[in-house]
Amino acid sequence: MRVVVIGGGAIGSAVALFLKRLGGAAVDVEVIEPDPSLRQASSARSAGSIRQQFSNAVNVQMSRFGHEVLANADDWLGVDGAPVRLDFVPGAYLFCATAAGAPVLRANHAVQRAQAVDVTLLTPAEAAERFAWLRTDDLELTSLGGAGEGWFDGEAWARALAHKARSLGARWRQARVVALTCQGDRLLAAGLDDGQRVEADAFVNAAGPWAGAVGRLAGLDLPVHARRRTVFALRCPTPLPRLPLVVDPAGVWFRSEGLGFIAGWSPGEGDADPDDLPLDAPDLAQFERRVWPVLANRVPAFEALRVSHAWAGYYEVHPLDHNALIGAHPDCPNLLLCNGFSGHGLQHAPAAGRGVAEWLLHGRFQSLDLSALGCQRLRTQQPFTEQAVI
Ligand SMILES: Cc1cc2nc3c(=O)[nH]c(=O)nc-3n(C[C@H](O)[C@H](O)[C@H](O)COP(=O)(O)OP(=O)(O)OC[C@H]3O[C@@H](n4cnc5c(N)ncnc54)[C@H](O)[C@@H]3O)c2cc1C
Repeated sequence: MRVVVIGGGAIGSAVALFLKRLGGAAVDVEVIEPDPSLRQASSARSAGSIRQQFSNAVNVQMSRFGHEVLANADDWLGVDGAPVRLDFVPGAYLFCATAAGAPVLRANHAVQRAQAVDVTLLTPAEAAERFAWLRTDDLELTSLGGAGEGWFDGEAWARALAHKARSLGARWRQARVVALTCQGDRLLAAGLDDGQRVEADAFVNAAGPWAGAVGRLAGLDLPVHARRRTVFALRCPTPLPRLPLVVDPAGVWFRSEGLGFIAGWSPGEGDADPDDLPLDAPDLAQFERRVWPVLANRVPAFEALRVSHAWAGYYEVHPLDHNALIGAHPDCPNLLLCNGFSGHGLQHAPAAGRGVAEWLLHGRFQSLDLSALGCQRLRTQQPFTEQAVI
């Protein structure tokens, strides 16, 4: 079997890795990636964090496998005995809820506990006792992760997945897919910007925020949008201990990063969130308007914060339910989608890559049933909702 993977970020690399790991010499894998530097790729512009605190069991299970690979990277990703450097820092997420959000936090907690996630609900008083720097009087409930959460170098992660895939025999070609040729409901070939044409039995759309554009090359309307998110790197003159990744009810998140902190904001319902805003112009005004007031409210010591720098990347948003699309496209069965992760794709890359590989090699998911994330949702418009979207 010959498989062409479109996009060589963390997701495309994980697909290639598991195709070779599970399929060996029986599968020929070529990854088409125009930019080996991954300069604009989300995998190199993320907040590089992993959590177990999701609202549905499938996402929890995908994160669990992501953590297994991260925490044992030398075993999973090592090549020729060289250590794999991902700078993984075990940490915890602290979700904060007001009275309005507390029922959702409780419901999520029940799902997580049913999956044996190490997570604890804390009252505001318990949270205040544990985290003296945190303002809690406007909160109703918090949820603190235990094992299985933390942060890592997302670009190194994507490169390690790619390096391992290559070591197993996957090939990389530096080119951009600019055309897709179909016959009936089958995809026959991809046209590249170097004039070449590559044929395959199956194609995987792993183009991240550009997945919608790749879909349109085959005449398919794929609702995955490139939505800019800015990460602010911060310095605080007031000494603080190492902070967990705090998710504020106002949609702002922050955590320790090295000697400083990083923070960001995701638009909520009713906020403008246009497609394809330029990445080289992070929205610095957003910090004053949206982020800093929330930070200063939640952590009084943050009153004196300074932005040291900022960068922007694209969330690959699937607006129906903010969950990935993984599986065969209903109108083109030999085009596999593996995109739309809506901001949690790095941590889910191993589970998604393994799922796509199983599906292609065996016609079904084997290790983890990912069918709830399948592309039937494109037709039914039935959401498979994730409540814990950041
Ligand atoms: C600010 C920010 C914070 C984030 N924080 C987290 C986090 O904490 N945890 C987490 O799990 N996730 C996080 N994410 C999401 C995560 O980064 C993405 O889900 C993940 O990186 C998606 O990987 P990908 O390989 O699909 O996309 P990408 O890394 O973007 O790779 C897609 C690749 O496709 C290539 N491509 C595009 N068009 C074509 C074409 N026509 N032909 C061939 N190739 C093409 C591109 O060059 C690119 O390299 C964050 C994202 C952002 C922006």
